[in-house]
Amino acid sequence: MSFIKGLRCRECGRDFPAKALFVCEYCFGSLEVDYDYPAIQARLTRELIQSRPPNIWRYRELLPIDGNPTVGFHTGMTPFFRAERLAHALGVKELYLKDDSVCCPTLSFKDRVVSVALSRARELGFDTVACASTGNLANAVSALSAQAGFKRFIFIPADLEAGKVVGSLIFQPRLVAVEGNYDEVNRLCAEIATRYRWAFVNINIRPYYAEGSKTYGFEVAEQMGWKAPRHIVVPAASGSLLVKIWKGFKELHRLGLIEKPQTRLYAAQAEGCSPIVTAIEEGSDIIKPVKPKTIAKSLAIGNPADGYYAADAIRETGGGGAAVSDSEIVEGIKLLGRTEGVFTETAGGVTVAATRRLIEEKRIPRDEPIVVCITGHGLKTQEAVVDSIGRPIRIKPTLDSFEEQVKDKTGGQ
Ligand SMILES: *Cc1c(COP(=O)(O)O)cnc(C)c1O
Ligand SMILES: [Zn+2]
Repeated sequence: MSFIKGLRCRECGRDFPAKALFVCEYCFGSLEVDYDYPAIQARLTRELIQSRPPNIWRYRELLPIDGNPTVGFHTGMTPFFRAERLAHALGVKELYLKDDSVCCPTLSFKDRVVSVALSRARELGFDTVACASTGNLANAVSALSAQAGFKRFIFIPADLEAGKVVGSLIFQPRLVAVEGNYDEVNRLCAEIATRYRWAFVNINIRPYYAEGSKTYGFEVAEQMGWKAPRHIVVPAASGSLLVKIWKGFKELHRLGLIEKPQTRLYAAQAEGCSPIVTAIEEGSDIIKPVKPKTIAKSLAIGNPADGYYAADAIRETGGGGAAVSDSEIVEGIKLLGRTEGVFTETAGGVTVAATRRLIEEKRIPRDEPIVVCITGHGLKTQEAVVDSIGRPIRIKPTLDSFEEQVKDKTGGQ
C-alpha cells in the first residue's frame, strides 16, 4: 500500500508523478516527495511502529515506496544513549549521542538513504544503480546493491581514504576514481545520468534517496520517548541530513505522534569547507560555493545541493552553526573515543568539535539537553588520527621487560 501522492517542486509547488524526476521543468527547483498524510494518520500509531522489527522500515508509511522494501532489513535503529562522560568533559548537564558509526551494513548513516533509494529504484524499473560519492555513499551503494542484485557504477574522487576505497571494492562494483574533487565528480555524474538509464541515487532519484535521512530523526524522537530534542548538532555536507531530520520531526508532530518540536538545529562543518555555516553567519540567503580543503572528506562538498534549505531550517529554528579546524576535528575524534568508547570518522570529529565550540560560545546553554549526531565509523578514516594517538609500548616477552618498560614507567598503573 502506497502513501506517496507524488513529487512536488520545493520552489513553485507544482506537482509531478512519482517517477525518476528530480528537477522542476518549469522553474528548475528541486522536487520533494509528498505523502497522503491524512491516510497515514488514520493508520500509523506509536504502537504499530514499536511492534515492528528494529530497522528503518518500521516507519515505512513515511518512506517513498509503493510495495515491500528490497533492502535495508538490518539498517537503522542504531544506539541512542546518554553520554555522561562526554557531557562532563564539555561542561554540560545532559548530552546524548545518536550513533550511526555502527549502522549496518557499512557503518555510516548512508545505509539509510541507500536502502530507500534502491528499494525505490527497483520499483521504478532500474537494473543499474550508480552514485557520486565522498566515500560513505560509495560504501553503502556498493554493499546494498550487491545484496539487492543490481549492476552498479560508483564514482569517487581519486584522493579518497584507503578505508573508503577498500570498503567499496570488497563488494566488487565498478569503482571509478575521478581525478577531481567531489563537486567535479558530481558534475560528471549529472552528465552521465542524462545519457544512461541508471538510477544515480543522489542525482536522478535524489527525492526518494533523501527521504531515507528522515529515519535518523524518527529514531532520535522515538528513542527519546517520543519527543524531539531541544538542541541537535548535525554534520552537514550537502545539508540533506539536517533538512530531513527537521522534516522528520515536523511529520511526527503533524501525525500526532510527538508534541510540537521546540528544536534548534545546528550545522557542523569543517573550516576548509563551510559554505552553509558561512551563509548562516553572514545572514545570507545565498550559498557561495567553495573549493574544499579539509581532512573531513566525507563532508567536503563545496557546492551543497541542499545548502539553501539547510540554512533556512536553521534560521527557522533559531539554531546556528560552527566551522572547526582540522586539528579540532582530530581532538574531537579523540575526545569522543576517550570519554565514550566510540570511534568516529572525521565527520564525527567535526560534530563533537562544533558542539564544543557552540557550548563554549554560549550559543547552546549548558543546562539544556543536547543531541550530537555521530554518522560514520573511524576505522574508515585512520589517516586522520594515526599520527596523533601515540604508539604501543614495545617489549620483550619477559616479565622483566614488562616491568621495566611498562609498569615502572607508568607509575604502576
Ligand atoms: C554524507 C555524510 C554526512 C552529511 O550528509 P549530507 O546529507 O550530504 O549533509 C554526514 N556524515 C557522514 C559520515 C557522511 O558520510
Ligand atoms: Zn518549480
